[in-house]
Amino acid sequence: MQISERLASIPEVAQAAKGEETLWLNPNKKPFAALEGTFPITRAQMDEAEQRMKRFAPYLEKVFPETRAAGGIIESPLREIPRMGQWLEETYGVKGPWLLKMDCDLPIAGSIKARGGIYEVLQHAEQLAFEQGLLRPEDNYAILAEERFREFFSHYTIQVGSTGNLGLSIGIMSAKLGFRVIVHMSADAKQWKKDLLREKGVMVVEYPQDYGKAVEEGRRRSMEDSMSYFVDDENSESLFLGYTIAGRRLREQMEEQHIAVDEEHPLFVYLPCGIGGAPGGVAFGLKHEFGDAVHCFFAEPTEACCMLLGMATGLHDGICVQDVGLSGKTQADGLAVGRPSAFVGRMVEPLISGCASVKDDILFRWMKQLLDREGVFIEPSSCAAFAAAPLQDRLREYIRREGLEGKKITHLAWATGGKLVPQEERERYIAFAK
Ligand SMILES: *Cc1c(COP(=O)(O)O)cnc(C)c1O
Repeated sequence: MQISERLASIPEVAQAAKGEETLWLNPNKKPFAALEGTFPITRAQMDEAEQRMKRFAPYLEKVFPETRAAGGIIESPLREIPRMGQWLEETYGVKGPWLLKMDCDLPIAGSIKARGGIYEVLQHAEQLAFEQGLLRPEDNYAILAEERFREFFSHYTIQVGSTGNLGLSIGIMSAKLGFRVIVHMSADAKQWKKDLLREKGVMVVEYPQDYGKAVEEGRRRSMEDSMSYFVDDENSESLFLGYTIAGRRLREQMEEQHIAVDEEHPLFVYLPCGIGGAPGGVAFGLKHEFGDAVHCFFAEPTEACCMLLGMATGLHDGICVQDVGLSGKTQADGLAVGRPSAFVGRMVEPLISGCASVKDDILFRWMKQLLDREGVFIEPSSCAAFAAAPLQDRLREYIRREGLEGKKITHLAWATGGKLVPQEERERYIAFAK
């Protein structure tokens, strides 16, 4: 009753419920200055998170050679995509410039999960080692690669529920430290992700159900074991903090590349969204760096637009896509989530500009365009970052509403995954896009 009333009263929600593409504009967005300091997550915690990653840099550099060039810092390139931008302008009438934030190439896990997932595992490992007096903050963390630490961590278990990429990041990082790891995979998870994890000694449990079920089972099994820690994607502040670090890093990259972000040069950022932790954390970090000059949009598959439904109805995790007759099924496996996070939507709602939704077949088309024009491969989930491009009417309404007409807008597509996708899988995707 409550749900159907809310559905009918919000046109974008009614459209979304029909499986149509739409861009919901958030009527509850507030100026950043009015919000600063009111959040349960503070700047001090974000600083602490960044410091923690710095402490671990000597260890990461040692055990993951691919992080050596950046001194053990897990970060991705930012680049311009002028040829893709030209195609988007010709096809949809959206004026560039367009930038691509390449979390598709993040070291270790090859997706945005290398931010939150790895952060939470490292935080947990550090806490265990501190408690046992094995490690102090001032130590050189490269010692964590020693066998005695691997032996110590082998008594502990880490578990997580995943549609694939979170499992990869938690699994790879935990196994490297020496933990026992169990990844609970939903039906959407791709076979190669399970194979890769098993190769690394991770135990993979498969479920015929969706993501919510995999999380529920993982949480239950972890609770039964006092030596087990559960990475809870539906509730984790730690994951969220790991994602926020991206804000500061992006500001530094924009400065290095002399790309202005201010009142006259607004930055529109499009973030593919599943349960909301990754895009929510990144958006939270970005707002703390750029304030009102940055405009963050979430992007989801039409069949799994849980954050759009949650925020637009104000019901948050009180609504799931099946409630409105959507399937929750999508080729964008990283975004195949039917119910949004219990805390992210509520917390970031006043910061977010809107939520866009996109149909699966277009994701493949954009994937191929980006590959052909820029030579960059990203997985279909990542391609949701272009979801607002065909929704120009709605975007123009937003620009009017915010008084941004005539300003020089830069668009940034946040590419969230791709590097680890095997060649045969890439070819299958590309063939599908034709
Ligand atoms: C997980 C994931 C996202 C979204 O992150 P959530 O925290 O689930 O919202 C986006 N893209 C890719 C490739 C992902 O794996």
